[in-house]
Amino acid sequence: MKLNVDVLRYLSKEDFRVLTAVEMGMRNHEIVPSELVDRIASLKHGGTYKVLKNLLKHKLVHHDSSKYDGFRLTYLGYDFLAIKTMVNCGVFASVGRQIGVGKESDIFEVATEDGTILAMKLHRLGRVSFRAVKSKRDYLRHRRSYNWLYLSRLAALKEFAFMKALEEHGFPVPNAIDCNRHCVIMSLIQGYPLVQVKELQNPETVFDRIIGLVIRLAEHGLIHCDFNEFNIMIDDHEKVTMIDFPQMVSVSHRNAQMYFDRDVECIFKFFGKRFNLSFEEDADNSDSGDVEDGSRPSFSSINKADGFLDRELAASGFTRKDQADMDKFIEEDSAGGAVSDDEDDSTDSDEAIVRDTDALLLSEEPEQIHEGGGPEEVENRESTGASGSNE
Ligand code: ADP
Ligand code: MG
Repeated sequence: MKLNVDVLRYLSKEDFRVLTAVEMGMRNHEIVPSELVDRIASLKHGGTYKVLKNLLKHKLVHHDSSKYDGFRLTYLGYDFLAIKTMVNCGVFASVGRQIGVGKESDIFEVATEDGTILAMKLHRLGRVSFRAVKSKRDYLRHRRSYNWLYLSRLAALKEFAFMKALEEHGFPVPNAIDCNRHCVIMSLIQGYPLVQVKELQNPETVFDRIIGLVIRLAEHGLIHCDFNEFNIMIDDHEKVTMIDFPQMVSVSHRNAQMYFDRDVECIFKFFGKRFNLSFEEDADNSDSGDVEDGSRPSFSSINKADGFLDRELAASGFTRKDQADMDKFIEEDSAGGAVSDDEDDSTDSDEAIVRDTDALLLSEEPEQIHEGGGPEEVENRESTGASGSNE
């Protein structure tokens, strides 16, 4: 997706105030009625509608009048809110070229004030599976928090939390720097995704290193679940860095064995094909966790520490409920599956949102907005999304 950040420079305080108002309104509306945007933004001299026109022109909001006159944030609008918040806080100063388009993300270079180049990952959960979101909307109608905004933010939060925890445990991952909304800032890895590497000086060593990582992850209670040549970076010294963590699961997951074997198989297959490594055919005869004999490491024989995921990651801000919410969306369960009845959940009223945002928006200093990671983060995080449940 094109990200023309020049526009950022021309947006006024009022533009951002109204953009934030749309974001806040999406806590309980899929499409936020214009009057509600106006009430939340409560610009001193009116003018919300003029500002909305400007935001519309720059594609930061989308106008929908199918049911009633209203607006919703676009990805670009959400990008701008995250970028603006982080720039205000000095996390980085400018946005550069796009370096990656993942399945469900866009990756850009960003530069800090002192010229350090970092990587910015904008999560776009629901881009590929937007139809899935739509088709599941009905079965999720009693839950207030399901939409791309909420899911993308959860994905970013999870990625950030996991990256940080993995780094602290000595895993070769990017340095997790900051996270806001659906955006993760991390160190830029010098190197290439393994899929682009045609030749290695020491393919066996690199292979052992990579399989060693899958094993060590499991020993720490985790499975990557998307461990393949696209998510492993190799530098000129053949150092390995793993990336892309939103789909990681605990070794206690009911499908853990399958995920683990799949990760392992991806690596064996790729190295066999690309670098002509040969392995023992019998996949099941290894009782040891190592791969020295060339056979597949066995999940059951790995000494798994339990609780790493739950203990450390719960403390990081990514909770079990967040995980459950993501699982519910991601797993290919049949759409009609049993869903707990959440009707008793208190749903935010427009009044509550206007009241809540009032306090936030009246104190317009960007620093205050950032405290806790942006206006929406200050509030109950579960309630940010819009399921349209009260429409
Ligand atoms: P997705 O979840 O969409 O697959 P990834 O995290 O795998 O996103 O990133 C997509 C691509 O962007 C990667 O294959 C890689 O080329 C590039 N990339 C991601 N993170 C970094 C980083 N920290 N440094 C350098 N390149 C990166
Ligand atoms: Mg990837």
